[in-house]
Formats: sequence, structure tokens, C-alpha cells
Amino acid sequence: MKTRDQVISVADMADTADRLFPTLTPAQIDRVAAHGHRRPVARGEVLIESGDKIVPFFVIVSGEVQIVRPSPSVATVIVTHRAGQFSGEGNMLTGRRALIEARVTEPGEVIELDRAQLLTLIQTDSELSEILMRAFILRRVELIARHVSDVVLVGSAHCAGTLRVKEFLTRNGHPYAYLDLDRDSDAQQLLDRFRVVAADVPVLICRGDAVLRNPSNERIAECLGFNDAIDRTQARDLVIVGAGPAGLAAAVYGASEGLDVLVLETNLPGGQAGSSSRIENYLGFPTGISGQELTARAYAQAQKFGAEIMIANGAAQLACDGQPYAVQIDEGAHVPARAVIIASGAEYRKPAIANLSQFEGAGVYYAATPVEAQLCGGEEVVIVGGGNSAGQAAAFLAQTTKRVHLLVRAAGLSDTMSRYLVRRLEDNPAIELHTRTEIVSLEGGRQLERVRWRDNRTQAIETHDIRHVFVMAGAVPNTAWLNRAVALDDKGFIKTGPDLSEEELAAAGWPLARVPYLLETSRPGVFAVGDVRGGNIKRVASAVGEGSIAISFVHQVLRA
Ligand SMILES: Cc1cc2nc3c(=O)[nH]c(=O)nc-3n(C[C@H](O)[C@H](O)[C@H](O)COP(=O)(O)OP(=O)(O)OC[C@H]3O[C@@H](n4cnc5c(N)ncnc54)[C@H](O)[C@@H]3O)c2cc1C
Repeated sequence: MKTRDQVISVADMADTADRLFPTLTPAQIDRVAAHGHRRPVARGEVLIESGDKIVPFFVIVSGEVQIVRPSPSVATVIVTHRAGQFSGEGNMLTGRRALIEARVTEPGEVIELDRAQLLTLIQTDSELSEILMRAFILRRVELIARHVSDVVLVGSAHCAGTLRVKEFLTRNGHPYAYLDLDRDSDAQQLLDRFRVVAADVPVLICRGDAVLRNPSNERIAECLGFNDAIDRTQARDLVIVGAGPAGLAAAVYGASEGLDVLVLETNLPGGQAGSSSRIENYLGFPTGISGQELTARAYAQAQKFGAEIMIANGAAQLACDGQPYAVQIDEGAHVPARAVIIASGAEYRKPAIANLSQFEGAGVYYAATPVEAQLCGGEEVVIVGGGNSAGQAAAFLAQTTKRVHLLVRAAGLSDTMSRYLVRRLEDNPAIELHTRTEIVSLEGGRQLERVRWRDNRTQAIETHDIRHVFVMAGAVPNTAWLNRAVALDDKGFIKTGPDLSEEELAAAGWPLARVPYLLETSRPGVFAVGDVRGGNIKRVASAVGEGSIAISFVHQVLRA
């Protein structure tokens, strides 16, 4: 039962208040009204209930509407909307459940739009699009900062599962309250109340009743209704597999050019780029941008144009025996698709070092370009890996660093590296090869400071004050799910366009007189972009470029 209302002060955000809670002009209100309908509202009427799956958008013409954070004990008023102001936050774009309640406190009139009408308005009116998108995104950020949520996570900083769930909620822009078993006395009480033991952490309590013990990301998405608004059986112009930079770019261009787009993402939106702490070399961001920020913007942008994105629901199969093709979602529905873009990326092989991810971008790198070389100029560096990419990185870094330690677990390089590279490394006094050797620990604070490695023949461990480690252990493409429905190269990456030989096309039963378009696989209308494509340059910019280029070929296929 609500005992009292408490008003959150907005004084601290006065400078952003106008952007969070703008007031529309009469002319702008008329343009909104053209997409929906006007109706009277009475005092006490609840326009939106917390947990509602279908959330309309309201512009207040007259009267007052309070936005309330629901709670069994203390209902908190977040803001009161008056004439010209409007309801809505990030979930207007995602189609997810309401986290707040909207109730009429002064009778008057509102304009009501359903989500489809709102998306049409945003896509067609650039002035209102800017005002509404900015307000929705800033309001979601505020909800996250204030932990206005239907979820409590109970976990421990020492538990990998807790980190995974936190990352999943954060990268999905879903606010949550967190209780740490090691620090918060309330945490144990809460576990007792729900009859859960500490061994079950992470525990997620959703909407005050559903208790999930160490849930998979798929289970969390299901419980929070992340994908409820998406029709899994509707035939699509385009199904995109993977929501990394390549898939999101294809979604933005495809949806903005009028295609009916569904994106399937097995895990988190943003892909590998989303986990990069700072991307320094992406065009237009001279001071760098975190991967999460970049991909969160792309995620919102794709949804703004109407692309639907299923989270924690991946593609399990591609059936190409008839037209339209069918993409199977996990164990479930088959989505008919007139065209398909595969953007399922690759996973970098990573050595099993407990805190490797802590130093990613802060001493641990997966690429050796002039950017990284500049960071470690004149210092000693370690390279892990015995393949050609490791050899090329060693030769390159030896030009500008004091010493390169090349660590390989094998007895030598001859089985894994081209002969010419092996010779080049052997001739270079700045490169020291350590065979049968592996890193056992990385140490430091915000930046890597020390590396310990072990000689597996003698078990001797050495400690070196080295601040830069390059992991060059290769990448594994995410193509197993395809079950060879398209032609792959000898490393499992997808072959496209001119890389496909006549024999490969004949073997795949290529049915057309024309040859495959650039980025088209051995199946007409099925494209591959980004890291999953053979010969691709593994960079955010190339993934984005390929994702956008592929759309022009999709149009050609759909027109044929
Ligand atoms: C730590 C790190 C730092 C990096 N830093 C930089 C940098 O600074 N600059 C730069 O240019 N590049 C950087 N890169 C490289 C860059 O992140 C990649 O080249 C880029 O993310 C590739 O984009 P993508 O969309 O092709 O693939 P990914 O980003 O790998 O995305 C693929 C997506 O597909 C999903 N997926 C896989 N299988 C399926 C399936 N069956 N169904 C549905 N979804 C599926 C995955 O979960 C993933 O989300 C970095 C990479 C890493 C790992």
C-alpha cells in the first residue's frame, strides 16, 4: 500500500530538464495529433501501469499527468507532465514493458498514439524525432541512474555469473537494483525471504515475485519480456543474424530504406565492439568512444527506424531449400526471410588468464596497428601466439619497441608460421622467442603493470615489469550454426563475391546466370558481412561499412 508520495528533486538536473521534459509548441502538438487521437482524461485515471506490455504515448493537451515510480511502500513521483509535455522513455523504441506508472492528477485532454503510430511520427518528422528521441534516451539514462526498475540482482563481486548478468542488463539498457552478498546486510535477508541459498547467486528477482537462480541470458530476456513485442513468424524482407557493428549497421540502413527488418542476436547487442573499453580509431570520434556507447547509439538508431531486434535469441539454422528462406530461432520458430545478412562475427581465441578482460584496452590488445605501437613505443612487449598474425605483429612491433617477447606453447614455430616469417624473426635481435611458455598471471591496477610467465619444461616462473600484451591467437568464426549452408573457407569463414570459385558455386548449386554480388555468399540473397566474412579486415569501421553496403545488394535481390 502506498503510504506517502515523495518528490525527487529535479534541481540537480536543471540544465538538462528542458531536454528531458520539453514542452511542445502548439504547431508541434497538432503534428502529433495527426498521427493519433485526442481524448478526455479524468482525475485518478491510470494511463500506464507498471509492467504493462502495451505502452501508449501521450501528449498532455490540458490537465496534469504524474509519472510515478511504483513501490509497495513509498510511491515516488518522478515528474509531473503539464500541457505540451509528453510521456514515454526508451521502452517506446524497444517495445518493452513499462517500468513506471502514469496517472492523471488534473483532468483534461491528451493525444494518444500507439507505438506503431509513434514510430511513424519519429521516422517522418525530423524535428519531433530529435526532441522525442533525445528525451526518451535521456529519461532511460535517468531511470538507470536512479535504479527505477522491476529487477533486483543479488550477487557477489567475486562471482563471474554476477558480472555476466550485470553486463547483460547494462548492455540492454535495463535498470536494476544490486545487492552484494559480501557488503549489503539486506542481501541475505532478501535471499532468506525468497528461500534462496547463497550458492544460487546470482539471483534475479523480477517484478517482486519471479526468482531466477543463476539464470541464462535467454531466461532473463524471457522473464523481462525483452522480445514480447516481436512476431516470430511474420515473413520479413530481411533477417540479419548478429547485432554487432556489422549487423546493426545493416539494420539501420535496411530499416531506414523501408525494409521490414528482424535482427537475431544470440547474446548481447553490440557484439565484440560492445566490450571494447575505448575505440580510438573509429571515424568521427577524435577522443575515442567506448564500444558500449557506440553500439548503444546504433541499437537505438536501428529501433528508431523500425528494425526489430531479438535479444538472447540466436539463429540455429538457415534453411535454403525454398524461397523465401527460413531462419530458425534457437529451438523454436522458423522466420521466413526474402534476404538474409549473416553478421555473426568471430570470437578471438583468448588464453585462460583469470583477469584478462580487466586489462583489455589497458595493456591487453588484439590488434597490432600503429595506434597500439604508439602506446608501447620504446618499452618491452609480449606477444602470445605462434601463427602468422603473431609473427607479423612481432616484426612490426620490433621496429618501435625495446624488445618483443614472443610466447608460444608449442616447441617451435615451424608448424604454425610461414617459413619466411620465422626467418625474419630469427634474424631480428629485438625479438626473443620463448617456446613451451605461457602467461600465468597479469597484474596491475587500472593499467597492466606486470606479467608472469611459466616455462612449462622447467615450471620456472619469471616476473617482468611489462605493460603491454598482444594476444594474437587467431579468431574462430561463428559459423557452426550454418551447418555449411553456404560455402566456407578452410578456417570456417564465409566466402563471398569474387572469392567464390566456379567450382564452389557449382558445388553449392548456384542457380543464376549472374555471378554473386560483392558480399553475397554461395546462396543468392544471402550475404555475409563483418568479422564472419573471409578476408574481412577485423575492425569496427569495416564491419559498419560492409553492413551498410550489403543493403544496396539486398535491394537488387528483392527487386529481381
Ligand atoms: C577487446 C576488443 C577490442 C577491440 N577494439 C577495437 C578497436 O579499438 N577498433 C576497431 O576498429 N576494432 C576493434 N576490435 C575489433 C572489432 O570489435 C570487431 O572487428 C567488430 O566488432 C566486428 O563486428 P561484427 O559485427 O562483424 O562482429 P561482432 O562484433 O563479433 O558481432 C557479432 C554478433 O553476432 C552474434 N552472434 C553470433 N552467432 C550468432 C547466431 N547464431 N545468431 C545470432 N547472433 C549471433 C554475437 O553474439 C555478436 O553479438 C576489438 C575487438 C575486441 C575483442
